[in-house]
Amino acid sequence: MPYLGAHESVSQGLHLAFDRIDQVGGEALQIFTRNQRQWNPKPLSPAEIEQFQAARAAHEGMIVASHASYLVNLASSRQDLRQKSITAFVEELRRCHQLAIPFVVMHPGSHTGDGAEAGLARFVSALDETIEAADSRTMVLVETTAGQGTGLGSRFEEIAWIRQRSRFPEKIGVCLDTCHIFAAGYDIRSPSSYRAALAEFDRLIGLEHLRFFHLNDSKKGLGSRVDRHEHIGAGCIGIEGFSHLVTDERFKNHAMTLETPKGEDLLEDIENLRLLRGLLPAG
Ligand SMILES: [Zn+2]
Ligand SMILES: [Zn+2]
Repeated sequence: MPYLGAHESVSQGLHLAFDRIDQVGGEALQIFTRNQRQWNPKPLSPAEIEQFQAARAAHEGMIVASHASYLVNLASSRQDLRQKSITAFVEELRRCHQLAIPFVVMHPGSHTGDGAEAGLARFVSALDETIEAADSRTMVLVETTAGQGTGLGSRFEEIAWIRQRSRFPEKIGVCLDTCHIFAAGYDIRSPSSYRAALAEFDRLIGLEHLRFFHLNDSKKGLGSRVDRHEHIGAGCIGIEGFSHLVTDERFKNHAMTLETPKGEDLLEDIENLRLLRGLLPAG
């Protein structure tokens, strides 16, 4: 059955995310390796790397991913932003490499006005430049998005295009966010709509490139193109939609992390994971 977990804070130390994922009983972890609202975080110290590795070693079997900073927009038409984004993402890939984190999830960014085609072409060129410069073992997972405003990546065709045009397709996988695809118009609520959405993904991108999931319900309706995460079962997707995904044999070795709101006591994560595990067949 899938590795169910959550995004956890690295407040007071990267390695402390492992304490938090233990607290909620998770088997998969997503983190920010840095303050994701700053362009230039300070480099990792040897002590930070060592503490992280020790915590990691104590959590054998846990699948770990990083989520890139929201500031990064590799599709930007502005030269200065493009350059800052490349620099920041090269650093992110190097940090993940140092921490032996196998995946970094990132958004394809925004075309900021001149259309998806131009934006995607700029994204691929900047991503290739980044992957080449970083020389990291970490795989980039392009996340499916809700398609808010001028955001790229809300159609499976766009994600497929990125992999097809890149010089490094073997270094690029995909992260599927349930809230985002639903807001983008891919229904997963009934068995037949779920099958159709995943068949579409398979036809255009290939399910073998789907490496990681974000499990979030959606505050907004199907095709709303608005990205608002809701607790599992409490939003417009509803609990049944999640049952199709977590019981899908094809994803039994995949990581699925929550990105739902929570307080310091993490009780919401515990409850959301309890609901998801309740969908799994007994035993
Ligand atoms: Zn994301
Ligand atoms: Zn997400």
